Amino acid sequence: MYNPLSWRNIPSAKTLFVMIFMAGIGLVVSVVALLYLSLHLISTKTNEIDEHRSALSVQGAIQTSANRVWSLVIDNAVWDDAVREVYPPVLNTDWLYNTWGAGFKINNLYDGTFVLDEHFHVMWGSFKSQPFKETNLDFFGYGLKALIRENAKALQAETTIYAGITRTRQGVAFVGIGLIRPMVGRLQVKNDVRRYLVITRHINPQILSDLGNTFQIENLHFTRDHTSESSIPLKSSAGEILGYLNWQPQRPGAQAASAASNQITQIVVLASALILLFILVSSVGLYKLARGESQARRVARTDWLSHLPNRRALIEELERVSLRGDIDVKTVVFIDLDGFKDVNDIYGHDVGDELIILLAKALRERVPQGGMLARMGGDEFAMTIGGDHSQAQALTFANDVLAFLDAPVRIGERTIHISASIGLASGTLIDCTSSELFRRADIAMYHSKITGKGRITQYDAELNSARERQLAIENEIRDGMERDEFDVWYQPIIDARSQKMTSVEALVRWPRRPAGELTPDEFISIAETSGLIYSLGQFVLRRACHDLEPFSDLKLSVNISPAQFRDPEFEEKVAKVIEMTRFPANRLQLEVTETYVLENPERARAAIANLKALGTAVALDDFGTGYSSIGYLRRFNFDTIKIDKSLAGLVDNDEQAIALVSGTVRIASALGMAVVAEGVENEKQMKLLRLAGCDQLQGFWFSRPMPIEAIIELRKVRYC
Ligand code: C2E
Ligand code: CA
Ligand code: CA
Repeated sequence: MYNPLSWRNIPSAKTLFVMIFMAGIGLVVSVVALLYLSLHLISTKTNEIDEHRSALSVQGAIQTSANRVWSLVIDNAVWDDAVREVYPPVLNTDWLYNTWGAGFKINNLYDGTFVLDEHFHVMWGSFKSQPFKETNLDFFGYGLKALIRENAKALQAETTIYAGITRTRQGVAFVGIGLIRPMVGRLQVKNDVRRYLVITRHINPQILSDLGNTFQIENLHFTRDHTSESSIPLKSSAGEILGYLNWQPQRPGAQAASAASNQITQIVVLASALILLFILVSSVGLYKLARGESQARRVARTDWLSHLPNRRALIEELERVSLRGDIDVKTVVFIDLDGFKDVNDIYGHDVGDELIILLAKALRERVPQGGMLARMGGDEFAMTIGGDHSQAQALTFANDVLAFLDAPVRIGERTIHISASIGLASGTLIDCTSSELFRRADIAMYHSKITGKGRITQYDAELNSARERQLAIENEIRDGMERDEFDVWYQPIIDARSQKMTSVEALVRWPRRPAGELTPDEFISIAETSGLIYSLGQFVLRRACHDLEPFSDLKLSVNISPAQFRDPEFEEKVAKVIEMTRFPANRLQLEVTETYVLENPERARAAIANLKALGTAVALDDFGTGYSSIGYLRRFNFDTIKIDKSLAGLVDNDEQAIALVSGTVRIASALGMAVVAEGVENEKQMKLLRLAGCDQLQGFWFSRPMPIEAIIELRKVRYC
């Protein structure tokens, strides 16, 4: 039955597909993100490094410019000629102008030259080749003043030359200062007389552009205030910020990134294409798997023959409904075909299969809206429906099915009579589980089966206890056979003319049943429906043949259930018993009832022919209780007809009964069949039946069924 640990709990191919798809997409996104992120990181880092390098370069450029001024001061201040021309007694202004002042015009290395005395007063100056008239240092700003203040001693001591940056009245300038002194030897002057050379070089766009070219800095320019661009502050020798040197960053990272972006895009496209290809390939695989899986699921829940849902599907559906907490009334209709096994046995399985397909289709057409029909296996179908009206709807359905089966079914050339036993059970899934509902419908169906078939039974509690009793008896029969609780008794059959016992009918008895004896009428039907009749029947046949074998003047009649008769191996089994017990076949007669014969005419005819071939006779039991005419029955070639006690027992007070018996006897004799009247209870009946022409008589008037020993005692008696 339903197994919750089945493959259905493994993630489906669809889920796997979604997982792979998501993983693939995730992979594409991560690859792209990783590539671009690292590209971005590398380019930012490169830019940062370049920024740093540029800043160093700019600083280098500033330092270089200052150094140039410093060199200029050295070249010009440490010069014997200059010493001669600037120290007392003379200050040769002509020489100064020609040598230094006019230089501005020739080269672009400086724009101002000045000579300062020991008090750092301007003695002579030329700025852009124009005479400089001021004597104090105000023009030069704090930068120069700071250089002088901080290095006055060193300057005086002839050792060092200083350069820096200052803001003059003309702008920001590199400035250098140094003592004018001879190349070799000490300065030979009185009273600490000192002459200093100051050189300025103002920053202008030309200078900056040259610097930029030299140091590979783009668009190097000066601003007073800080801008958002890349820049470094320009500080005077006094430490004040004079402005900023700005430049255009090259951003090599960004350039490299944009240069590489094409290749990277190609890599990304390639990687994505590969991943997408992978997704595609696995998707195709998974699609096939999913299709196979859903097919397998469908197959597992579908009956291969009728294409109806199968038992599993129906139970799953009911479980689903009950899990949903549905409080609706549910009704289950259980349908079991009557005589389907015979169709298989007689016409073969192909015809049986066709019959199932045909019936499945007919049943499906009659399923009410909202109902679910399933083939439960073999010849069983079930229909479930929910809702307040489900019981009425189910009943209508069941009646429709029986009405359909009233007419014979045509399969090819064949006309097949088939009926169905139907059971109905209703309840909410709160009161009882779905399997309990099925069990109840099954019990109701079983009741239909044992009470005549082709009918509908609705489940009630009484049915349940009846069924339980039946199940108990079934078990008791099974145990009883093992424990030898059964006996076979015999009832004499008397020749009407000679009044002698010519034959006996074997009748099973259950005297040693622990719970008390049951009559065959009470347990034979149970043995039949449970299949136990096969072994019980075999037991009776064996025992009877064994008991009667020594009495060669007595014939033996044994009752055969329809179920036994249906067994394709039945004739073989009979033959085996005969052989085993050495009972002469021509002393044996088997009694069968009309029911089976009518249901399965073909098989019955074949079986009768086979039995006759063994030498065994066949009697039609219980004639008069069914509906068939003796004319119809002639085709079966019965040796004997047994008129049932319900008819024979009426002859003493019902004229019609006598007429019926006489008629039957006449036709039977004409057809070469012997007639036995059973249930003879009094003399009058005995006489009337004899008069009517019955060949043999059986009944309590002669003897009740008795153990074999008692029969042997009786057999010499002549009944008058
Ligand atoms: P049946 O084949 O019609 O057997 C005759 C039944 O009528 C026997 O009942 C017998 O005791 C009873 N009977 C005989 N004479 C009279 C009479 O004068 N008046 C009345 N009222 N009844 C009489 P029993 O033994 O209870 O068997 C009942 C049925 O059980 C049998 O009916 C037969 O159908 C079935 N049966 C009995 N033994 C076996 C058996 O070994 N195998 C099979 N398959 N069925 C059996
Ligand atoms: Ca009988
Ligand atoms: Ca009978």
